[in-house]
Amino acid sequence: MAREVSVIAIDGPVAAGKTAVGRELARTLGFSYLDTGIMYRAITWLALKNGVPVEDETSLGELARTNPLGLVGDDGDQVLAAGHTLGPELRELSIDGNVSVVSKATPVRRELVAQQRQTAAKGKIVMIGRDIGTVVLPDADLKVYLTASAENRAQRRWQEMRERGQAVELMTVLSETLARDRTDSSREDSPLRPAQDAWELNTDGLDIEQVVQKIIDQVSSR
Ligand code: C5P
Repeated sequence: MAREVSVIAIDGPVAAGKTAVGRELARTLGFSYLDTGIMYRAITWLALKNGVPVEDETSLGELARTNPLGLVGDDGDQVLAAGHTLGPELRELSIDGNVSVVSKATPVRRELVAQQRQTAAKGKIVMIGRDIGTVVLPDADLKVYLTASAENRAQRRWQEMRERGQAVELMTVLSETLARDRTDSSREDSPLRPAQDAWELNTDGLDIEQVVQKIIDQVSSR
């Protein structure tokens, strides 16, 4: 008999389409949605605001522990951190440039993973990130690993940044995308990689609806 799919993990490198796909998939299924990247971005924002060095793992862990994050709205693009509702400021270049270093810190990961598991405990959730299928929710009912070529991913981010009014060269975005992937894949704690039982999909040439439909086909076939 088919097992009911309640917890869906989506992982993958920078700009593989996880956010748009995860949000639309959750909407279609009537599930809640958690973008865990925004949590690492919020801790990075707090660190920069409070002058905490991004290499100081102990202080970063303390920052995460004393500032539990609150989720705002259904779209997953805002977070409440230390009384601040954060959204667009989490997409600034200063955050892009520091978030991977902050995310290497085990004390930060330990705290955020605990918060993520608590959110998932209610079930019916789509959670996106880098380590959801491997570490956060190893028992997820469906694990998806999205990829796309570096050129397409950089192009996608560049377009999003332009739409937000950020003037930046495509080549700068490409090198920053590759640098962040390198740091995320090579870190010791919870590196970016597909779970052994993940279903991998290359999104090159597919639009959001097509990717969502392919994932729904996977859900139906379980
Ligand atoms: O997905 P997004 O680009 O917003 O993630 C920002 C950064 O947060 C990633 O580059 C990665 O360093 C970190 N991250 C992580 N684990 C997650 C989600 C994000 O380390 N589950």
